[in-house]
Amino acid sequence: MQKYEKLEKIGEGTYGTVFKAKNRETQEIVALKRVRLDDDDEGVPSSALREICLLKELNHKNIVRLCDVLHSEKKLTLVFEYSDQDLKKYFDSCNGEIDPDTVKSFMYQLLKGLAFCHGRNVLHRDLKPQNLLINKNGELKLADFGLARAFGIPVRCYSAEVVTLWYRPPDVLFGAKLYSTSIDMWSAGCIFAELANAGRPLFPGNDVDDQLKRIFKLLGTPTEDTWPGFTQLPEYKPYPLYPSSTNWLQIVPKLNSKGRDLLLSLLVCNPSQRMGADDSMKHSYFSEMNANLK
Ligand code: ADP
Ligand code: MG
Repeated sequence: MQKYEKLEKIGEGTYGTVFKAKNRETQEIVALKRVRLDDDDEGVPSSALREICLLKELNHKNIVRLCDVLHSEKKLTLVFEYSDQDLKKYFDSCNGEIDPDTVKSFMYQLLKGLAFCHGRNVLHRDLKPQNLLINKNGELKLADFGLARAFGIPVRCYSAEVVTLWYRPPDVLFGAKLYSTSIDMWSAGCIFAELANAGRPLFPGNDVDDQLKRIFKLLGTPTEDTWPGFTQLPEYKPYPLYPSSTNWLQIVPKLNSKGRDLLLSLLVCNPSQRMGADDSMKHSYFSEMNANLK
């Protein structure tokens, strides 16, 4: 730990505390994440370490780079490249207005980072604005990648705060255990709507039941026709048969029709019908995008 000089605390998240720090040798500014481990008498699980080491190879400009892993008996410190702020803080500072080109650029970068990881079979599983970092050049980077696999999908923050359900797909809310890349695509859809609405979350549910109701009221309650087998999921329970909303112009008023079409391709309850990251990047919503924003 002599290598880094701690500067200030920048965040507290699902797995631990994050500090801004400086590499004493190179003067490089980094983010240090001290991971708290539940069963600390056991030390750092080797499965977690194996996963973390794989993440060091995940190099892409839209993924926050994991530069170093410091491991002592009971502590694990991850050293990441530093970014100026997260998307949640960006929303707070944008005064209810994000221009359409920025929305498009952020969404494209989100999909690009996802396509890269999904192509390597790495899932995020906990995508949300706090886990997307934005720097001054308008670059967006995904943070916390792969950690859910190393440490388990978060159910609560280490600070005992409840983990948000707002970005979880209906299959996961119904207790599906076989996660696939589609889990992240749902979250990407929710974040897309939130970007278009300058930080107003699309499905701000209070608990699992409320979360599912909010989803079905907009998208329509799934049926065995639209989603074969969903009534067999471990925590399935029936919901009223809401029709799908025809009100998308009002739900995301700033999105053009191509953007709404992409959004509805992501927000599909049946995970096998949800659009993937590669196909989403090819969507016509991005066709007249400024090349240097990509
Ligand atoms: P957790 O896994 O505990 O949720 P995160 O990596 O999401 O931890 O970090 C918590 C918060 O700290 C983030 O929401 C963000 O505000 C800040 N943060 C994390 N990593 C960085 C970074 N590389 N650069 C700048 N801020 C960061
Ligand atoms: Mg986080």
